[in-house]
Amino acid sequence: MSNKPMPIQTAISAPFWDGLKAGKILLQHCSACAKWTFYPRRHCSHCLSDQVEFREVTGAGTLYTYTVARIPTLPEFAGPEPQLLAVVELDEGVRVNTTLVGLQESDIEIGMRVKPVRARVSEDGTVLLRFTGANVDLVELDEVPQQPEAPVVDADAAAVRQVALTDEAGLQALVSEEFSPWSNQLLVDQAMINQFAELSGDNYWIHTDPERARKEGPFGGTIAHGALVQVLTSKLQLDLGFEITGFTNMVNYGSQRLRFPSPVPAGSLIHSRARVKSIEKVRSGTQMVLEMNIHVVGQERPAVINDLIILYM
Ligand SMILES: [Zn+2]
Repeated sequence: MSNKPMPIQTAISAPFWDGLKAGKILLQHCSACAKWTFYPRRHCSHCLSDQVEFREVTGAGTLYTYTVARIPTLPEFAGPEPQLLAVVELDEGVRVNTTLVGLQESDIEIGMRVKPVRARVSEDGTVLLRFTGANVDLVELDEVPQQPEAPVVDADAAAVRQVALTDEAGLQALVSEEFSPWSNQLLVDQAMINQFAELSGDNYWIHTDPERARKEGPFGGTIAHGALVQVLTSKLQLDLGFEITGFTNMVNYGSQRLRFPSPVPAGSLIHSRARVKSIEKVRSGTQMVLEMNIHVVGQERPAVINDLIILYM
């Protein structure tokens, strides 16, 4: 389940989509003028005859034009790689709007020969038609979002910088404008959102009703609860590069600032990073403010900003 817009079959286009699911590329052929039509229509786009029938084609063609979209065309398309949007002219003469896969930007040339790639994009088996270079060894792709493997915690990892609680200068040196490296990634899918809705009692449709959220919501689909994303920090392992030593107790004292500046659509991968914002002595001990930000992978704007207060005693 993801928020990416999925094809909506109509009576006329259903054979094309069902064909893709079955591994076939079907185009409409006109028996009156012998020309091909795409996208699927009731009448031939050349002579307007209604004598059109679907026939299987190879999908081989030529790259007509392309563009590299470094800023996602919709928030749902945010990701680590830019989108390679293209128009392919099939050998039958029709042009298809598509996405190039399995190619580096430097490999792409207008006029190059291309071949089809069947990309499975949803658990229900929906397949989209993408293209790659004629010589690339790629026929199928599985693009259904998967949960990344949880990182293995290495107890013998190289010793991090240890800073004693009594070392005032050492503590102040941890304060930085720079964020840590990114954590591991985590998939926030509809099943996880549903579990949180049940646990918290917040089952507002914008979180739990994909169909209604697609039609009526502002985000094109369901989004995770801000509170859910916030608590997932424990599953996002960070390498802060230091360890405080010499305390008897460490307490989560809450948050100085908690914001949810951008949504996490169902089906998003998230990751986090953090920085030490301040360290100061307070009456009960030493208080560290850790700015912990969670982002949808590929998005510059955080989904969660949390200035965590950690109290060392
Ligand atoms: Zn015709």
